[in-house]
Amino acid sequence: MSPHYTPFQPMHGSSAAATAATPEQQLRLLADNLPALIAYFLSDSMKCQFANEAYAATYGFTVASIIDKTVLEVVGADAYIAIHPFILRVMNGESVSYERLLELPDGGTKTIEVNLIPQFVEFADGSKPIAAFVLINDISKYRLVEQSIRDSEERFRKFAEATNEGIVFFENGIITDANEALAQLARLPVADLIGRPNLDFVAPDSRETVTHNVRTGFEKAYEATLLRADGTMVAVEFVGKVIVRNGNTLRMTIVRDISDRKQAEARIQFLAHHDILTSLPNRAMLMDRLQVMLNVAKRQGTLVGVMFIDLDNFKSINDSLGHYAGDQLLKRLAQRLQGCLRNVDLIGRLGGDEFLVIVTGIERAEDITPVAQKIVEVIGDSFVMDGQTLAVTGSVGISVFPKDGEDTDTLVRNADSAMYLAKEHGRNNFQFFIPSLSQSSVASRSLESGMRRAIQNVEFVLHYQPEVLSKTGKISSVEALIRWQHPQLGLLGPDKFISIAEHRGLIMPIGRWVINEAIRQCKAWLDLGIRVPVAVNISAVQFKQKDLVEVIAENLRDHGLPGELLELELTESLFLEDVATMTITLGNLKKLGVTLAVDDFGTGYSSLAYLKRYPIDKIKIDRSFLSGVPNDPDDVAITAAIINLAENLGLTVVAEGVETVEQATFLEHYRCDYIQGYLISRPLPPDQILDWMQRRSS
Ligand code: C2E
Ligand code: CA
Ligand code: CA
Repeated sequence: MSPHYTPFQPMHGSSAAATAATPEQQLRLLADNLPALIAYFLSDSMKCQFANEAYAATYGFTVASIIDKTVLEVVGADAYIAIHPFILRVMNGESVSYERLLELPDGGTKTIEVNLIPQFVEFADGSKPIAAFVLINDISKYRLVEQSIRDSEERFRKFAEATNEGIVFFENGIITDANEALAQLARLPVADLIGRPNLDFVAPDSRETVTHNVRTGFEKAYEATLLRADGTMVAVEFVGKVIVRNGNTLRMTIVRDISDRKQAEARIQFLAHHDILTSLPNRAMLMDRLQVMLNVAKRQGTLVGVMFIDLDNFKSINDSLGHYAGDQLLKRLAQRLQGCLRNVDLIGRLGGDEFLVIVTGIERAEDITPVAQKIVEVIGDSFVMDGQTLAVTGSVGISVFPKDGEDTDTLVRNADSAMYLAKEHGRNNFQFFIPSLSQSSVASRSLESGMRRAIQNVEFVLHYQPEVLSKTGKISSVEALIRWQHPQLGLLGPDKFISIAEHRGLIMPIGRWVINEAIRQCKAWLDLGIRVPVAVNISAVQFKQKDLVEVIAENLRDHGLPGELLELELTESLFLEDVATMTITLGNLKKLGVTLAVDDFGTGYSSLAYLKRYPIDKIKIDRSFLSGVPNDPDDVAITAAIINLAENLGLTVVAEGVETVEQATFLEHYRCDYIQGYLISRPLPPDQILDWMQRRSS
């Protein structure tokens, strides 16, 4: 039997003064006050020789009653079986450390960390472990904290997995974690992403921006291009957040795939320059290109011919055979016209049945004659469609740069006048512009003087066309559309006189009258308990007047109408104006509370940047797109793209010119909430629209 050792035996008898604590007492005091469980067991008998209060109490003993109890007696049979392997190891002289869940006498549990430290004694045949210290720390608290960290990480991971948005963490430019969505976007498994520089996945073009934004801790969304593992690119939006964790600064970035939106934008960009039906350049693009051609001609001293082509009897074909046949005819005609031009010439569609041809690099005006002849001929060749033979003819007017005009507007206007001359000459022919034409445009001159009189006599009226929330049919606004009650010609639509008014400086008084009348009417309805915003069309010329904001503010004030009941419909061309002026004007209009809408959206100009730049609330999809919905795949794609774009930019989107239930169903499906068109109601005179609104609301 080995000698009876205890570590706490006084080294040399008891001696010190009675009042002073013995070393044994000091040790006991220390042991009992340590926040740990301490015990000492002999190796061979496995009996306890010492325990501090905490240890004894944990197993339901006192410091005295635990002495000479075996490990088995102290910890109980279940625990003994569990810890037996560790006991064997410490008895063989090994330091052992393990973690265990301890069941307390009161039924609770604790997580403990147990350290078993062997005590060696020198014998003649070498040193042997004769006993073991037991040191137990309660680590429940740490485990709980760890668990809650794990829980929150788990929660985060679940969230990260549930979202479609890529999430990536990186520290010092190295990816430390990413979610599955990001792996899919980057086309690389999460495990392979980790450890790679984040810039590996940023396209060269975007690297500078990304680096700058990371360095400055930029936390707003911005657009960039992601470079996938397979080398392809995808347009994305990044939103970075700086996160401080364990004293380290890391960055979390949310990555959103915006390629759909980009495609929609590109598509709309194309549309902005092309006529959808024929894929020919549209008016905006023609004007741009004509300008370039004029610059070249000026340098080279050559001539440019501008031909304005108008079909003579297109309307009757459209009316008798339907829009579809009409569209097919225009498409085929576009191909024929292209066939008789040289590569350097340009043809585009101005709208409806009007085309424009630009002939360049000619030396003498007569050189245009054969081209014009050819054009009149190919238009006149009959078309066979669905077994039917259609006869169409065209009238062509020609102006020549520089003698008939030095700028694009003048040249096109003069070609247009010459086209009318061709009509007067019995159609199916071409005519060159002659200077007396611009003076003698009889019809427009008599309209002009008529209009001056009309302004004085107030021969104008406003008709109103409702716009509704398609789901409920609830009316969301009414658009004021001007009509001229002409004493001889009857009720004239705006197409007959607005553009002349614009050119002859008469749009201002007319526009003012419209603003005043629409606001007055809206307030009158409000007084009857019908609260519906009124939308007013503002022509570009009118918008550029310095006092527009004042005129509107004044009218709202005079009539006592809240600004939010007024909506202004502006055309896209306006947004090309000087950014600084536009920002101020639109800002001032917004201050009045009015709603700003873009009219005829999609037909206009080159850049869509203005949608983000200016405080625009709403876009109205031009009705030409609606005409092919839901049958024409192009029109469907475009309409859907515009709706998608509007949604992305948080704009209200309205479809105008909705005539059929199919169109309305399509729009509802694509989440275009607001519609306007003959299906709902034609524009109605004031008394009838009031009736209509009252019936709707009851
Ligand atoms: P807009 O602003 O695009 O107005 C819609 C035009 O489409 C109206 O023609 C309306 O009658 C017509 N419309 C509405 N629903 C349908 C439909 O389902 N199918 C078809 N085919 N057409 C539909 P409206 O009244 O002849 O006006 C033509 C244009 O004249 C307007 O186009 C607008 O640009 C301009 N305009 C009208 N009133 C004013 C005004 O007070 N001031 C200015 N500056 N321009 C005006
Ligand atoms: Ca409008
Ligand atoms: Ca419109």
